[in-house]
Amino acid sequence: MTSRIGSTVLGYPRIGPNRELKRALESYWSSRIDEAELRAVARELRVDAWRALRDAGLDSVPGNTFSFYDHVLDTAVTFGAVPPRFAGLGLGPLDTYFAMARGVESAPPLEMTKWFDTNYHYLVPEIGPDTRFSLADRTPVEQYREAAAEGVITRPVLVGPLTFLLLAKAADGAPESFQPLDRLLGLLDAYAELLGELRRAGVEWVQLDEPAFAADRTPDELDALSVAYERLGELEERPNLLVAGYFGDLGEALGVLASSPVEALAVDLVAGKSTVDAVSTVRGLSGKTLVAGLVDGRNVWRTDLDKALATAATLLGSADEVAVSTSCSLLHVPYDVAAEADIDPQVKSWLAFAAQKVREVVVLGRALSEGRDAVAGELAEARAAIADRASADRVRNHRVRARLQALRPEYSQRSDYETRRAAQQKSLRLPALPTTTIGSFPQTTDVRKARAALRSGRIDQATYRQRMRDEIERVIRLQEEIGLDVLVHGEPERNDMVQYFAENLDGFASTDNGWVQSYGSRCVRPPILFGDVARPKPITVEWTSYAQRLTEKPVKGMLTGPVTILAWSFVRDDQPLADTAKQVALAIRDEVNDLEAAGIRILQVDEPALRELLPLRSAQHADYLDWAVTSFRLASCGVAESTQIHTHLCYSEFGDVINAIVALDADVTSIEAARSRMEVLDDLNAVGFGRGVGPGVYDIHSPRVPETAEVVDLLRAALAAVPAERLWVNPDCGLKTRGYAEVEAALKHMVEAIAELR
Ligand code: GLN
Ligand code: ZN
Repeated sequence: MTSRIGSTVLGYPRIGPNRELKRALESYWSSRIDEAELRAVARELRVDAWRALRDAGLDSVPGNTFSFYDHVLDTAVTFGAVPPRFAGLGLGPLDTYFAMARGVESAPPLEMTKWFDTNYHYLVPEIGPDTRFSLADRTPVEQYREAAAEGVITRPVLVGPLTFLLLAKAADGAPESFQPLDRLLGLLDAYAELLGELRRAGVEWVQLDEPAFAADRTPDELDALSVAYERLGELEERPNLLVAGYFGDLGEALGVLASSPVEALAVDLVAGKSTVDAVSTVRGLSGKTLVAGLVDGRNVWRTDLDKALATAATLLGSADEVAVSTSCSLLHVPYDVAAEADIDPQVKSWLAFAAQKVREVVVLGRALSEGRDAVAGELAEARAAIADRASADRVRNHRVRARLQALRPEYSQRSDYETRRAAQQKSLRLPALPTTTIGSFPQTTDVRKARAALRSGRIDQATYRQRMRDEIERVIRLQEEIGLDVLVHGEPERNDMVQYFAENLDGFASTDNGWVQSYGSRCVRPPILFGDVARPKPITVEWTSYAQRLTEKPVKGMLTGPVTILAWSFVRDDQPLADTAKQVALAIRDEVNDLEAAGIRILQVDEPALRELLPLRSAQHADYLDWAVTSFRLASCGVAESTQIHTHLCYSEFGDVINAIVALDADVTSIEAARSRMEVLDDLNAVGFGRGVGPGVYDIHSPRVPETAEVVDLLRAALAAVPAERLWVNPDCGLKTRGYAEVEAALKHMVEAIAELR
């Protein structure tokens, strides 16, 4: 007899409650510890997680959720998809793995990109006609055994074969017509082999993640899904299969999976708005287990357990068993609210991080199997917290709401671009091909130390302020010496472009330990946006106007845009995101207007995350882009014609948002372009962009200093696409993570290149 799934989570954080894995990885990479020490840390983290999940009372504990770097990379390695440039390095398995993630001198790493619409980055597998799939690594089997030896029975989690191939890219040199999906049958053989081994090791359930089907998919891709799960379902020797589709509605894939011979399906009832209805009408679920993703795996709010139980009740009957789970892996939330000492206690009582969400799932599971009375106390406590949050004064700011009500279309409108251009030229008198940077200059150890010292009280505000002023002055002098045309203050006072604003706006809370893995050993600590957003006082005006007083050249004021602030925060779930965006936009608008009043004539509102929040389904694009663009314009349109608005976008692949970039109506857009050799300019031309544009002329992600000739080359390419009077010259992105030596040299080459062209 197979055991029920009952209550479970689809995955768990792995970086360690105190970022133990981050430290161990970085120590290993810098040769301060050896492989055995790194493996010991990893093992301890795995064992702790298994035990915690079992002890919390989950009926089914996910396994194989640990990763040294990334679970997509793990999958590639498991099935032998190691590109020849790494296989030939002669390194051991772990170092080959890290070489794929981080690159080595002779072999650049796999490309990295965002995991669906999250802030997690995965490594893009390279699959070609010659990729030889095999069961090359048995980590999933070993970890099952390792957990079993600790007395914990786990359900190994794997990236599903379709999602793996759909996330992969064609290897260099593959024929034009080749797609990774062409290799499905070969890959399925390797999956079959792994499933057999897992079964022989005693595994009862395996989870195969197929989030790729929460995005639009072609009929061929849906057919491939059907083929794959027919094939895996037919295997004689295999564990039960749980296929998990999350991050949205599965659409047609739900029907395909329901009629396939898999034993269980996990659906996302949080992001999948029509999934409840779809589940009740789809055929083929009877005889299967439906794993209901009722607890939000992407956000930090406590679950409304009553509502979740009501939803579960509507599903009973649609399948043999209704199990409860998180909507997706808990990889996307921090470990434990209990680790937060400084969050306001009331706000804290509304939060649930991974540990709390596991408990919520357990409570829901018990309510379903034993009846609500069995967990009456927990349900009552949750109810009280939900009610408190819904009625809390600190969530609502009547002035902000009134302002939002009173918005008029002209608030997000400026006069036509040509009129503005003439006014700006007159006021700014910039030379042809003006040079600038994206905002941040290198964050030196001294700057970081000063911030830490202020936080811990070792220095006072006045001392801190002086140190930042000194830094700003240094950065201004450096830019003058290099000969840049539009200067910046360098952003030394900002820990992070979103966190800094969150800390200075009402409606946000910050965490001490709320780390979430971004990629590899990199973690971020997203602010928590819990209430109406207001700006109690000007934030950047003092720094920017100080910088402006130091120089005759125009200093550009730097702000983060509303969409990016939302994208890199945990957002409230009690009102439409569009409303939250407009509130943030109004706060930024006030800052823009104050900067203008303080004499700043150029303002940059950064929206690097514009593309990132784009919904997975194209049917929702228009609505998103509409509020995203409106918010940006609300933030930036309150200025005079002569004030120049810049924006900055990065992380390439602008395809789906190219029209929105035009609609932002910024006077100047700086955009990542160096790595794609200015291709984006043609895309912009194709949609009639016609405004100032600064395609990045060198890649700041690498320490490499570009030669003047390379910059000249790129600029020549740019000039073929954009008339000189609209072209700006700047790096690809902010310089925060670079060192001064490189930055100085690179910017000098950039300015030399202009001299050659002018
Ligand atoms: N102004 C920011 C900086 O220079 C922009 C960063 C970004 O685009 N991610 O750091
Ligand atoms: Zn950028």
